[in-house]
Formats: sequence, structure tokens, C-alpha cells
Amino acid sequence: PPIAGAALAVEGLKKRFGGVAALDDVAVRAGPGTCCAIVGPNGSGKTTLLNVVGGFYERDEGTVQIDGRETRGMSAQAVAGLGLGRTFQTPRLLNDLSIVDNVLLGAFTRERAWLPEIVLRLPRARREAAALRAEALGYLDFVGIADRAEDLASEVPHGQQRLVEIARALMGGARLLMLDEPAAGLSMVELDKLEQLISRIRDLGATVVIVEHHLDLVASIASHVIVLDRGRVLAAGAPSEVFADPAVQRAYMGE
Ligand code: ADP
Repeated sequence: PPIAGAALAVEGLKKRFGGVAALDDVAVRAGPGTCCAIVGPNGSGKTTLLNVVGGFYERDEGTVQIDGRETRGMSAQAVAGLGLGRTFQTPRLLNDLSIVDNVLLGAFTRERAWLPEIVLRLPRARREAAALRAEALGYLDFVGIADRAEDLASEVPHGQQRLVEIARALMGGARLLMLDEPAAGLSMVELDKLEQLISRIRDLGATVVIVEHHLDLVASIASHVIVLDRGRVLAAGAPSEVFADPAVQRAYMGE
């Protein structure tokens, strides 16, 4: 089904850790049906940006709006409720649960009231549970790993765990998807599939923000690239322009 993407608007964002300006006047705009990539050398502030937008860190200054709603002071849970879903560099799954149960738990952000009853397997929750489970299997099929549904999360490789996280985010009703280095450690074949998957999610209407070192992937799926360097926006624009910028090339060479 189509996804009603949520617009992201970040302005003047600042975040310090002690003496380090991890983010210094950062701006990001991303709209429904588009993919925006955040790139930059290690330590340039990419993960901090995701963590501030996601409500995991408090900002020092600046505005973050999701579909026009200012998120200042909101918990990560509340921000997720606005439609933000994300994946992590190191996947965060419940290792002792099956893949499909991990995806099912994504519904927590949209149907909090039902979940305790489902987990406790109360009779009146059974029908609801069956429907949610079918939906979770549908998302696993969408990301291409339905065959691993019953495996424990700990049994599947990292690359596939990130696909589980994408399925979980979609299950949670994500309309703005932030992916933190989804291509890390993937084979060429897996990379190709990931590129197609992200393109499909974008084309369904979701807003996609991706932090990625793999610049070929960025060039093929992102319409807008923001290059961070020591917390500042070094360059922003279309991939072809940004990657041709000598200042950007210097920042990467200096890594
Ligand atoms: P990137 O994701 O681009 O590699 P990060 O956002 O992880 O960069 O880090 C940006 C800067 O902020 C780095 O100098 C890093 O050491 C610092 N930093 C990030 N998170 C923390 C933290 N929780 N505590 C202290 N310093 C941090």
C-alpha cells in the first residue's frame, strides 16, 4: 500500500558534547517520496543528527519539525508516534525472539493498547494477534526475508537483521524512515537488493533519510546529499554536483 510520507525540516541544529561541536548549524529538508543522504567522514556528526532527530539526544539549539510538528522535548517514543522509524548501525533486535515476532513488536508504536494482551495471549486478543502476525509476515516478504520468519533474530546475519529493522519500522507505521549505514557489510548481491528495496519504499511515498558511506548507493537512490564535516554542512545538493566539489573530495581524502 502507499505510504503517506512525513516531511522533515531541520534548521540551525546545534549539539555539543563537552568541547566537541558534534552538530553546528545543520539544516536538512526531506519530503515525501524522496531520499536524502547524509554523508561525511567518521566523527562528522551523522549519527548524532539521527539521534537528535529521533529524540534520543536533546539538542542545544535549532528546530526539528516532522510534518510541521516541532519535536523539542519529545521522547523517542513520542517522535516515533509522529511516524519516524529508524534502523541502527548495529541492529537492535530482541535476540531470543523470532524474526516475525520482532517485526510484530513494531506495532507497539501504533497499537500500544493491544500489545500486552497479545503477548499474554488473552482470548479476545487472539484474532487481533493473528491479523498482526499476518501483517508482519507481509512486511518480511516485502523486504525479501520471509523464509527466515521463524528463525531467532540471533541466527541471522547483520545485513538481514537490518532488513528486519526496516520491516519493523514499516510495521510501526513509519512515514519517515532513517537508515544508519544500511549497506555496511553487505555483499554485492545484497547491496543490489537493498538499493531496490529503498527505492521501492521511497516510491511508495515514504520520506527516506539515509546515512551511508557507500557513495555509489547514495548516487543511485538519493536526490539530495548533505555532506557533514566536523559537525558543519560542507556541501549540499544533487549527488553529481556534491561529489564533484573539490572541498568534498578533500574532506574525504583527509579521513
Ligand atoms: P559520525 O556518525 O559522523 O561518525 P558522530 O555523530 O558519531 O559522527 O560523532 C560526532 C562527534 O561527536 C564525534 O567527535 C564524537 O566523538 C562525538 N560524540 C558522538 N556521540 C557522543 C557522545 N554520546 N558523547 C560524547 N561525544 C560524542
